[in-house]
Amino acid sequence: MKKHLSITAIMVGLCLASGNAQHTVRCMAQRHNAQNPNFYPKGISIGNRATVVIPVVVHVVWNSNEENISDEQIRTQIEVLNQDFNAENEQISLVLSIFQGVIADVDFEFCLASKHPNGNATNGITRTQTSNSNGIGGTSSLHHTDQGGQDAWNPDKYLNIWVAKFAGNIGGTATFPGEGPADEQGVEVNYKQFGTIGTATTPPYHLGRTCTHEIGHYFNLEHVWGPNINSCCDEDDGVADTPNSCETYIHQCPTGNAFSCTQPDMWMNFMNYTDDACMAMFSKGQKERMYAALNTFRPGLLDSDGCAAVPTHELAERNGLDVFGNPIGNELKFRISASGAAQWEVMLANAIGQVERLGQFPANQLFTIDFNQRPSGIYTLVASQNGRLLSARIIK
Ligand SMILES: [Zn+2]
Repeated sequence: MKKHLSITAIMVGLCLASGNAQHTVRCMAQRHNAQNPNFYPKGISIGNRATVVIPVVVHVVWNSNEENISDEQIRTQIEVLNQDFNAENEQISLVLSIFQGVIADVDFEFCLASKHPNGNATNGITRTQTSNSNGIGGTSSLHHTDQGGQDAWNPDKYLNIWVAKFAGNIGGTATFPGEGPADEQGVEVNYKQFGTIGTATTPPYHLGRTCTHEIGHYFNLEHVWGPNINSCCDEDDGVADTPNSCETYIHQCPTGNAFSCTQPDMWMNFMNYTDDACMAMFSKGQKERMYAALNTFRPGLLDSDGCAAVPTHELAERNGLDVFGNPIGNELKFRISASGAAQWEVMLANAIGQVERLGQFPANQLFTIDFNQRPSGIYTLVASQNGRLLSARIIK
């Protein structure tokens, strides 16, 4: 993918009608293909799956120590994604009443990969020190180990997210479906805007929304104002329920109705440039478009085992920890198959590694745990006793 950084910067500059002198470029993703109706098949169809699980690998490509962000910071970003793509974020209360009916629960679950492409276990994070101190973000080199970056993991099976320093105040970028080299597919985010702790605590880009926005592009979403800010009131973003708009809302945090064309703008949509604290929603039309892109252009993600996404009664039996009905509903039923009467310590970990103790359980009895209050997603159930460890993956 060619990077038209300077052109993008000029375009964004042009749309700042208020004369804002700051030179932040929130996002440099640009579509290069002409708009084509056939490019946007309709329909939400994901076979029999209850939940779309997106295995993520985060490539930290760093030069200074500060750029080598922590695992914990990375996990905060995954948490933000799972809130934003499930309509569970705090800011959702900001959505104007006229748009509340089109708030989408996109129902994507992002998980840091647990299985490396080579089959080994992984924490879903790579770390690469680069000699490039200028900012390798936004360059082709970022995606290639032999150019000082980090090669993608199979982009058909993983969402590759590169985190790096960018030259200038660039927030991030992404490849649209069907565009760019196959081995550069994914999302890039400035290390100062990734997650909510560590290097990413400076407003207005301190709530992880840059990555949410870029993943929107990765799944074929345009900016709300459409592909070209210069013809925005006349040009659509290909989504019916996001009103035509002619304002990026960069460095802005509106309240109430705000107009740039004829209808109130959906300024709280993730695909604007609004401050992180004022972004809150994808629309139902955007959800439909993302599912179409997933099915048409990125279908390998649906059958990826990068997060052991289709787990597995089989695995559980082999390990001696049986989970019944997987994906599970509002109840987790499990049984430890082992000899002896001693108690097992049982814990539950969610996709970002937060661990909850469930208690002590004897073997060879069926137990039911209420899962009603737990969000949908991937969990790992672990039972331990005297150094023995049993585990099973669970999908709710
Ligand atoms: Zn963008």
